[in-house]
Amino acid sequence: MIAQAKSQLVSSSLLDDHGRIMRKLRVSLTDACNFRCFYCMEENPVFTSPSKLLSPLEIENICRELISMGLEEIRITGGEPTLRPEFLEIVERLSALPVKTLAVTTNGHYLEKLLPQLKGTNLSKINISVDSLDEGRFHTITRGGDLRKVMSALFRARDMGFEAKVNAIIFRGINDDEVVEFARFSAKEKIEVRFLEYMKIGPGINDFETRFVPAREIRSKLQEALGMLTAVSMPHDSTAKVYATSEGGRIGIIASESEPFCGDCSRLRLSATGMLRPCIMMNTGLSLRGVASEDYPAIVSKIVALKPEGRLPEIAQGMYQIGG
Ligand code: SAM
Ligand code: SF4
Repeated sequence: MIAQAKSQLVSSSLLDDHGRIMRKLRVSLTDACNFRCFYCMEENPVFTSPSKLLSPLEIENICRELISMGLEEIRITGGEPTLRPEFLEIVERLSALPVKTLAVTTNGHYLEKLLPQLKGTNLSKINISVDSLDEGRFHTITRGGDLRKVMSALFRARDMGFEAKVNAIIFRGINDDEVVEFARFSAKEKIEVRFLEYMKIGPGINDFETRFVPAREIRSKLQEALGMLTAVSMPHDSTAKVYATSEGGRIGIIASESEPFCGDCSRLRLSATGMLRPCIMMNTGLSLRGVASEDYPAIVSKIVALKPEGRLPEIAQGMYQIGG
């Protein structure tokens, strides 16, 4: 009933045959990155030439069309979105659109100096990837990242009133001994930590069997050390199951592999070159570059119809190419 009522408010192009209504858009600004996280990309990746990327105006126009059809939330991502010289301009342009939520996922390296200007926009949520609280490990995982710089940006974002969260993928034998430490960090710093299951995406296909840690194991580690986890109610299309810990931490668990949430998926993805894609696990899409307003419903319908009903097994492209 609720889905039916809602569907009357959005373009039918955003409703698929399985009753899923598209609500969220991931917008990749670039596939380039200043880090080389071992699980995301190879050491010497070839990035798309900047001349082929959507311009700020193209991004604004595409997003305006999709918002007018009913999309409510935009998360800017990449690659590393802050590497775009026009990053602030793009946020400002998107901020002027009638979008309910504007968010970014970033590695945080170049974030701190951007925060004062971001504060003047409607961007409210900032997720920063921090896979280890140990400087040496962080440097190894990211192949060169500086944890102190990232943490400084994280704390500043929180202190300035952004909804700042940490994304941490848990890997067997690399950082699975940090789960409880992350939860204590969450309680101490009042920052939600989201544990991501390692996905069979890009390099993840090669070492998945040895490195994958299922959500149930993460929950057990937390319960053993901290006692009961209290579930927090979330929207039906949330990818995370969220828990409060006894010490006051807030933990999200995104179990993409062991407890997939495809049945409630409400996401579309726009690549850095303008390809609208139906699913993180599909290297299929249609370009929205230069498309006239009246042609959007037909193109978007086609993409939405391609959304798989259930979880596809793997994808060779790295997350930086898909727009994570
Ligand atoms: N560069 C930014 C960052 O790292 O936050 C944004 C792009 S990055 C591709 C977005 C998210 O994808 C990060 O939180 C990263 O940890 C996650 N990611 C990349 N490869 C992944 C994989 N194979 N499985 C699960 N998450 C992955
Ligand atoms: Fe870059 Fe983000 Fe991929 Fe790490 S996860 S290599 S920071 S795009």
